[in-house]
Amino acid sequence: MKKHNFNAGPSILPREVIEKTAQAVLNFNNSDLSILEISHRSKDFQAVIDEAVSLFKEILSIPEGYSVLFLGGGASLQFCMVPYNLMESKAAYLNTGTWASKALKEAKGFGEVVEVASSKAANFNYIPKDYVIPTDADYFHITTNNTIFGTEILKDINSPVPLVADMSSDIFSRPVDVSKYALIYGGAQKNLAPAGLAFVIVKDEVLGKVTRHIPSMLNYQIHIENGSLFNTPPVLPIYSALETLRWIKSIGGLKEMEKRNIRKAALLYDEIDRNSLFVGTAVKEDRSRMNICFVMKPEYADLEGEFLKFATERGMVGIKGHRSVGGFRASTYNALPIESVQALVDCMQAFENLKK
Ligand SMILES: *Cc1c(COP(=O)(O)O)cnc(C)c1O
Repeated sequence: MKKHNFNAGPSILPREVIEKTAQAVLNFNNSDLSILEISHRSKDFQAVIDEAVSLFKEILSIPEGYSVLFLGGGASLQFCMVPYNLMESKAAYLNTGTWASKALKEAKGFGEVVEVASSKAANFNYIPKDYVIPTDADYFHITTNNTIFGTEILKDINSPVPLVADMSSDIFSRPVDVSKYALIYGGAQKNLAPAGLAFVIVKDEVLGKVTRHIPSMLNYQIHIENGSLFNTPPVLPIYSALETLRWIKSIGGLKEMEKRNIRKAALLYDEIDRNSLFVGTAVKEDRSRMNICFVMKPEYADLEGEFLKFATERGMVGIKGHRSVGGFRASTYNALPIESVQALVDCMQAFENLKK
């Protein structure tokens, strides 16, 4: 049976990225060697990193003065690397979900952390908008897409202090004005590559300002000086990232990507709003295009398990909601075809017909 992969992360990648990665594992660049058994300092792998960095810059229109890094440790290590490298005494955080809370908690070990606003009391179902960013903060941290709660900051905000964003789950889903950010980071496993890789886009001039000693492996400047090859980087995920970037470019870049993502999200949200059994959990104006959360209406709550089974039997994968929201979550990342969203919508309609 055809599977429709709505997994939240690790998650769906373009089929051709999987195939090209498999090919590189068997025989990389017709070298009769696997990419798994060559030096990360070889000419052939250097070409992979170079092209990946250059496509990163091209596709996101990254201005001069920024570096792109490929590091291990996932997004969670960035929760600590960011304050390590950027916080001298004070940082500000917007608390919009589980990942934002974890980033904030980690920063507390490095100085004073101001939570400018939080939507926790409403189970993070919206993005707070009335808040003041302290102008004496060393940076302001946001999580642009809240993977677990299905809310998203779609507009590049203006910040009076350097802006830092966790874009783990919406990077490359739409154009971003990188010039408004001092640093953007994320784990690769939602929209870019297999797990094991984090990307960092950092404005060079914000680095080198803190007085503390930074261990080499946690120091962005050391990684920049070494072109992400200070130690052995996650070689295979970097190769897959390159193939994903080639794929994004081939379909027409981020404008086209965004168009597709808007269409997919609208298709599912329209059904959630129309269907008499379901209701969305995030407030409409802050709905994520990447993670679409919905539950049974209270009067149909006892049908939750039955719908999950119904949809699973029809090929839907990974639609069970995160335990902190319950219900269902359909992740509609870049690589998910609209046919899969349509298949889920068809399921919801068929289930409604069965019950009414
Ligand atoms: C998945 C996720 C993370 C955690 O990523 P790891 O690579 O597992 O550390 C952090 N932030 C957001 C927004 C995520 O979606």
